[in-house]
Amino acid sequence: AHIALEDARRGGHRLHVYSGGDELRVKAIALDAALATALEADEFELHFQPLVDAHSCRPVCAEALVRWNSASLGRKSPAEFIPALERSGGIIALGAWVLREACLRAATWQDVRVAVNLSARQFQEGDLLGDVKRALALSGLPPERLELEITESVMIESPDRVQTLLAALSALGVRVMLDDFGTGYSSLSILRTLAVSGLKIDRSFVTALERGNNLEAQAMIRSIVGLSQALELDVVAEGVEHADEGTLLRNLGVDLLQGYYYGRPSPDWTPLD
Ligand code: C2E
Ligand code: MG
Ligand code: MG
Ligand code: MG
Repeated sequence: AHIALEDARRGGHRLHVYSGGDELRVKAIALDAALATALEADEFELHFQPLVDAHSCRPVCAEALVRWNSASLGRKSPAEFIPALERSGGIIALGAWVLREACLRAATWQDVRVAVNLSARQFQEGDLLGDVKRALALSGLPPERLELEITESVMIESPDRVQTLLAALSALGVRVMLDDFGTGYSSLSILRTLAVSGLKIDRSFVTALERGNNLEAQAMIRSIVGLSQALELDVVAEGVEHADEGTLLRNLGVDLLQGYYYGRPSPDWTPLD
């Protein structure tokens, strides 16, 4: 294995061990190097994608999705740079930036909530509660209009700490949503353990509606909706690309819909359009 010393200023003195071919290793090092200066170089940008009410089709929330346009590497997908930042620890600083920028933007909207994705590492290190409070204070956004999206991966390490933090966030009035629901392994028990307001059914279930296994996908969505109603949770379906999927999901009892059909993530999205 090859060992590279990563940016010591932000991530602390951490050693990275890369495995795989030379080419992959060189790319990973270039990515880490470019990411180490991306925040100060102002290379990140937020795009917003609406979540609409399944009945009125009006936007009630917008999810902040971070984009990176690197001076050296060009546009990179979050699927690539978020895991790299999670490894280096850079996600702590980016996470605080996203919270602040998302709240500042949402404060200019009327009523519409903003949803911000959190990484597991933000629960383990840094000052998540402080970052949230500062973002709300700076922007003046009412806590009820901030939604935090977590995945069950937050529970892998120190679940007690996570539960305490989520309880504190709920006490502030902030909403917490369980993202990518149905893709993990402990989905059902986690709903009882964590103080969440709702869940987002993973896009793969919606994609399955269009495929041959339609009845199976419908049955699974129906059971997730039933469970959510019993637990008084809001249900969102993500990845809705066609009108008929939206109709079906609404008939299955899904509360909110999100996907390209209702709007692609965009840097200048506003509910007043
Ligand atoms: P996610 O939170 O599940 O976000 C939904 C992803 O699905 C987004 O991809 C969005 O652009 C995409 N999407 C929305 N509607 C459709 C659709 O109709 N069809 C298809 N095919 N895709 C759709 P994106 O923006 O590439 O983000 C990927 C993931 O990166 C996110 O998944 C989230 O886990 C992570 N991410 C994005 N921004 C942040 C951030 O600020 N912080 C953290 N920690 N993670 C982030
Ligand atoms: Mg999300
Ligand atoms: Mg998701
Ligand atoms: Mg997803």
